[in-house]
Amino acid sequence: MAELKITQARLGFGDTPVLRGVDLTVETGEFMVVVGPSGCGKSTLLRCIAGLETLDSGTIDIAGRDVSHLPPAERGIAMVFQSYALYPHMTVAQNMAFALKLAKAPQTDIDAAVAQAADILGLTDMLQRKPAALSGGQRQRVAIGRAIVRNPSIFLFDEPLSNLDAALRVKMRYEFADLHKKLKTTTVYVTHDQVEAMTLADRIAVLRAGLVEQIGTPQELYDRPGNRFVAGFIGSPQMNFLSGILDEEGRFSSPALVAPLATGYRGHAGPAEMGIRPEHLHLAGDSAPSQFSATVSGTVQFVERLGGTSVLHVASAGSDFAILAQVAGNADLQNGQGVTLGFDFANAQMFDHNEVRLGDQ
Ligand code: ADP
Ligand code: MG
Repeated sequence: MAELKITQARLGFGDTPVLRGVDLTVETGEFMVVVGPSGCGKSTLLRCIAGLETLDSGTIDIAGRDVSHLPPAERGIAMVFQSYALYPHMTVAQNMAFALKLAKAPQTDIDAAVAQAADILGLTDMLQRKPAALSGGQRQRVAIGRAIVRNPSIFLFDEPLSNLDAALRVKMRYEFADLHKKLKTTTVYVTHDQVEAMTLADRIAVLRAGLVEQIGTPQELYDRPGNRFVAGFIGSPQMNFLSGILDEEGRFSSPALVAPLATGYRGHAGPAEMGIRPEHLHLAGDSAPSQFSATVSGTVQFVERLGGTSVLHVASAGSDFAILAQVAGNADLQNGQGVTLGFDFANAQMFDHNEVRLGDQ
């Protein structure tokens, strides 16, 4: 049975629709990441699941029971916010115990739950400290500890890492994955960061303007995005899009392409965009361009040298933006230099004028 089932959830603030019919099912023990740009309704969706907002229409079922009209405390949910909202005058132990105290749990149960959560989170030595004496990562762990002690059936996390610096974010990402392995609690984790989504999720739901665009495993969304939006949102650096025309025979021509590309997409004649990920573009030497199905030409605008890899920004007539190519090593290229990039068509995606991905050939 699904732990959490959201059906046609709608909510507006005033005249502005924010959730426009969200369907989302999360299986028991699953780590579901909801990802989408700022303002698309992620926090609103979590607040509805938690019971902090009431849907205009639609239902939220938890373990087969409609909880749409239950107060937050009766939903078996614990939510961790982006701002940890710890009580500054309380110790770590008191912060973690607070909800259980409110619920009038026996002191021995509270002590045991706090000790266990502290052990899981590596906070045992800090239980008597106040939040001011903790680092950002430690505070975040206390906030998670507060959720753990309640032994909820579902964890809700709203961008829990976005206040941390980059290095700490990576470490905490690992801790989240580890925590989930230990506790296996059904989780809905919201972020705007697709790298977090890719690394943490069992499945990802991509939310755009109050609607779920696609749900799938990270690999499914990466390999088979349903549309241009998902294709552009998942993957870093971002997928390149080359605008052009598909003809009756399925040949794709674009000002960026050196020659028309035989794609096999017959019956889709019209304007189209081809998507190709930066890691699938390679520098095509003069010697062996024929090893690629197609080549793109342009001028180097800028080279980001990252040590192990370089990201080339190449200006080309067929793309609104610079085409990005991620190549191994420290690319020996000058700004302004002409380059040819090659790729294997098997790695390209094609999107029609409605931004829908054309099926595999
Ligand atoms: P996200 O978390 O994806 O960034 P939110 O769910 O916070 O997005 O917000 C979605 C939209 O709803 C935004 O346009 C936001 O301004 C609006 N919104 C959120 N909460 C309220 C509220 N209480 N009243 C009015 N508008 C709101
Ligand atoms: Mg938000």
